[in-house]
Amino acid sequence: MTPFAYDRPRTLSDAVAMAAEEGAMLYAGGTTMLDLMKLGVYRPKRVVDLTFLEDPALREIAVEGDTLRLGALATMSQAAEDAAVKERAPVLSESLWLAATQQLRHMATLGGNVMQRTRDTYFRHPDWLELVEGEAADVPTYGNTPYGDGRLTAVRQPTRLSAVLGTTEADTASYPGDFAQGLVAFDTVVEVVGPQGAREMPFGDLHVRPADKANEGDYARLDAGEVITGFRVPLTPALARSIYIKARDRESYAFANASAAVGLEMEGGTVADVRIGLGGVATVPWRAREAEDALRGGPLTEETMRAAAEAAFADAVTHEANAFKVPLGRNVIVHALTTLSKLEG
Ligand SMILES: Cc1cc2nc3c(=O)[nH]c(=O)nc-3n(C[C@H](O)[C@H](O)[C@H](O)COP(=O)(O)OP(=O)(O)OC[C@H]3O[C@@H](n4cnc5c(N)ncnc54)[C@H](O)[C@@H]3O)c2cc1C
Repeated sequence: MTPFAYDRPRTLSDAVAMAAEEGAMLYAGGTTMLDLMKLGVYRPKRVVDLTFLEDPALREIAVEGDTLRLGALATMSQAAEDAAVKERAPVLSESLWLAATQQLRHMATLGGNVMQRTRDTYFRHPDWLELVEGEAADVPTYGNTPYGDGRLTAVRQPTRLSAVLGTTEADTASYPGDFAQGLVAFDTVVEVVGPQGAREMPFGDLHVRPADKANEGDYARLDAGEVITGFRVPLTPALARSIYIKARDRESYAFANASAAVGLEMEGGTVADVRIGLGGVATVPWRAREAEDALRGGPLTEETMRAAAEAAFADAVTHEANAFKVPLGRNVIVHALTTLSKLEG
């Protein structure tokens, strides 16, 4: 690990000012940051620890009118166990319960969770520095921070972890988190505070797809010094009838090979609203809009569910190692819809 300065700001404005300095990075639960710093993927000059910030809104989870607001510093376990989340947005609670381990969930925050990086093997390859020796001085930047995505060109090739949706020929890194799928499916708004003040954006705009990257290090649409402060999720009937299905190698402590965050609202025999977010299969948290469009306004049958699942993966690009994700992903969607249809009674 390279040496770094360590800050513990008490106010958000101090944190933003510190984070805006050259080479600074935010630190919340540290469950990803420490790993990536030890591996040399992240080499911050300054670490700005958010966990001492005193503003309670950063940790609060509350229903505000027809919106569920989750503070970005709320821990994963806090959100998973929250009564309002469990009742009004079960998909979010379930996605957090199925992520990582209890110890990690107690440490890790919601803001840090959505900002985690790919688990694809090449990204953390311990020999990367040797592989790119001589190029290390040209490491691309993330925000204003030296950042190790130079390794992508050195050792990358599709693995069984790689994405099948939203890829380019050169970039198949999969987004690994579980929580983000529910956020993207249910039109969540991200609150951000930075040197220019507060702003918000659709959660679906936060992560940068490979085809839209101006630089290889681009990952999230946050400027230097910007801190995610919260997430606002519109409360809808489909969110109240929602589920997270995660297919993985082990029943615990494993990332998704394919996952689906799905919500359903029925009016009689007709699909009034349906939301489908996919994980483990795409380069960013993925909204399967084609699948939603295929179902909305029609009946929910084995046939229509299968057709929707086909539509979700119509544009998939596979390699030998990850082709299994397409049938797996389709089955995860059908399983989630079938389960929800029974809940609807
Ligand atoms: C062994 C293991 C298994 C795991 N399994 C899963 C799993 O199954 N599913 C899953 O979803 N995750 C899993 N994780 C990932 C884990 O959930 C994340 O490490 C955690 O959520 C990150 O949160 P954190 O608060 O610790 O973030 P940190 O490690 O502190 O930060 C992570 C990133 O987020 C940035 N950041 C932090 N807070 C903010 C903020 N407020 N605004 C802007 N940027 C911010 C940091 O700069 C850093 O880039 C696993 C992790 C480990 C180590």
